[in-house]
Amino acid sequence: MKKIQMVDLQGQYKDIKAVVDPSIQEVIESAAFINGPKVHQFQKNLEDYLNVKHVIPCANGTDALQIAMMGLGLEQGDEVITADFTFAATVEVIALLKLTPVLVDVDPITFNIDVAAIKKAITPKTKAIVPVHLFGLAANMDEIMALAKEHNLYVIEDNAQGIGANYTHKDGSKTKTGVIGHVASTSFFPSKNLGCYGDGGAIFTNDDELAHTIRGIVNHGMYKRYHHDVVGVNSRLDSIQAAVLDAKLPHLDSYNLSRRNAARKYTKAFKDHPQITTPSGLTACDGICDTCDCHVFHQYTLTLEGVDRDALVAHLNEKGIPCGVYYPIPLHKQKAYKDERYNEEDFTVTNHLVENVISLPMHTELMDDQIAFITETILQFINTHS
Ligand SMILES: *Cc1c(COP(=O)(O)O)cnc(C)c1O
Repeated sequence: MKKIQMVDLQGQYKDIKAVVDPSIQEVIESAAFINGPKVHQFQKNLEDYLNVKHVIPCANGTDALQIAMMGLGLEQGDEVITADFTFAATVEVIALLKLTPVLVDVDPITFNIDVAAIKKAITPKTKAIVPVHLFGLAANMDEIMALAKEHNLYVIEDNAQGIGANYTHKDGSKTKTGVIGHVASTSFFPSKNLGCYGDGGAIFTNDDELAHTIRGIVNHGMYKRYHHDVVGVNSRLDSIQAAVLDAKLPHLDSYNLSRRNAARKYTKAFKDHPQITTPSGLTACDGICDTCDCHVFHQYTLTLEGVDRDALVAHLNEKGIPCGVYYPIPLHKQKAYKDERYNEEDFTVTNHLVENVISLPMHTELMDDQIAFITETILQFINTHS
């Protein structure tokens, strides 16, 4: 059996080496390292793939979030609601811009922001909601958009983990995540579903005026050379990374399908175990049915009941099986983001998840023998230790 990795980027590279290598070489020979033709080509191709009017590439997914918020003109003291159970980047940029982060609990089934909790947190100062399509499953966008409309709020989708996922609307129609809210951000960090070979990110929007504003912000607030109309940043996707991404984009759907196939096998092994909850999509669907493409499994995350998770993690590591705990500490308990306003009883789901979730190896190169070894090792541990 091949050594199991949390993410196998070398294995994935072998398959696309013949396309990626010459594409990188082309950038080097052209010396168009910054804003070269590869960046524009990738931007256009991603716009077509997502069916969105504007993709604005930038340096990473955290910048993308920050720039989206700057583009919307959010101001000091504006409240921005986001999920307590996510990667810190989301709340970090809110705080960095001197906006007021308002963390709310998530849904225990989907791990995504809880719409009832958002509703409860809205005040006259609320200006935006940032749903995160956590682990690759779309947040409840129909309800979030309806709520935003009612209260005149912006919706910024953090799509760093969800690229390529479809959201199925109440009427059955489908839209790619990242093109439903007013603006969205994504990350091309190497381990993301569409990853480059360094840092990268992008902002998406269908709003022409906002796109124009954001294109200036990423480039020092310049709309005309050496005329700085607004305070901007320097945040660019470099051409070598764009070359990698443009070579990988045609494979994104098949990459996500490989992830879903691996997820299906994991779920088949675990689904009847009373102490294991497998990841879910919306109630009607577990995200892994044959026709469904609503979950792109950036992570495959189990919720355990009555299992000593630390002992399980140690056992898996001993057996050569890497695993992860995403995320071990709720954001509202992080030193940087603690606030007297928060009440523990408002975070019962997140507080439970951080103690009981475990994420298994998930990537495009997982083999059946590896999945069988992982599932058997976990089941055997749980069955002999409880
Ligand atoms: C990875 C990630 C980010 C940040 O992306 P970087 O490119 O690493 O800056 C933001 N939000 C979420 C949910 C992420 O998973």
